[in-house]
Amino acid sequence: MKVPEHGMVSSRARDRMVKELLLNHGIDDPRVIAVMRETLRHLFVDEALASRAYGDENLPIGEGQTLSQPYTVARMSQALRLTGREEVLEIGTGSGYQTAILSKLSHKVYTIERHPSLADSARKRLRRLGFHNVVCRVGDGSLGWPEERLFERVIITAGTPITPESLLRQLAPHGLLVAPEGSRSAQNLIRISRLADGALQREILDPCCFVPLVGAQGWKDESP
Ligand code: SAH
Repeated sequence: MKVPEHGMVSSRARDRMVKELLLNHGIDDPRVIAVMRETLRHLFVDEALASRAYGDENLPIGEGQTLSQPYTVARMSQALRLTGREEVLEIGTGSGYQTAILSKLSHKVYTIERHPSLADSARKRLRRLGFHNVVCRVGDGSLGWPEERLFERVIITAGTPITPESLLRQLAPHGLLVAPEGSRSAQNLIRISRLADGALQREILDPCCFVPLVGAQGWKDESP
């Protein structure tokens, strides 16, 4: 089924997604809810998958990677406590859907993807859809943003054995980092806060399941 870009189908599907998958499961940040409702998720996946874009499932995006289910995207976005003023570093651009959500909730997003083909299509898609406060880059995000600088928020959208030191170093005072930490197949969503005195405080949020963060400070590449 082809879902019309601005049609009733997509609008009703988005309303249902928000009600059944987000509001009923503890997503209560009004800005996150509004942005999840207005963003056209079906434009971030292959046309053949468009009819499944607002359901409770991960969707393949190529290169063996997946776009997380809507709840997970909303949960991570909410955990970042964005006000609209922050500069955000995102590791794992993928389709660019989470990037689009962050771009509406923050001031500017810096995003890194290790697969050039995914980075290229996400960059084009985000530009075409009018997300102009986003800087896309290809590289190993486990090493952090290449220039030395700090970010108020950091989000890793791939599972990591332990949060890379280079990303903690780029977390600004009073900053928040959200990441899935654990084994290759199952993780816990954690939030690390940089306190006023520079110390780091860790909280465990929810169990989750992401594709691995592959890189110098993540998992080894096991693809054939
Ligand atoms: N948030 C994305 C999906 C994330 S899937 C979306 O909304 O579509 C995780 C992504 O992280 C994949 O695209 C994967 O290629 C990428 N990735 C894994 N390890 C990485 C690394 N070290 N640096 C940058 N990107 C990485």
